[in-house]
Amino acid sequence: MPFYDLRCPNCDKEFNIYASMAEKTEKKIACPECGEKNLETVYKTGPAFIRGVKDFSCPNRHICGAGCQHG
Ligand SMILES: [Zn+2]
Repeated sequence: MPFYDLRCPNCDKEFNIYASMAEKTEKKIACPECGEKNLETVYKTGPAFIRGVKDFSCPNRHICGAGCQHG
């Protein structure tokens, strides 16, 4: 099962939880603080991952990490 980082828009609590995709999309996950079910997903992707995916400037179409010199 996937691991989700969720944030409650009601009481601002962030928490993470293992849940199935269905449990999440059907909003069966409730905030442990206040029981709110309309939770926001927090995407905690590392800076290296973001750079790798979004750097489309590489002429070699590499997924550019720190090592690619565009050569
Ligand atoms: Zn809450």
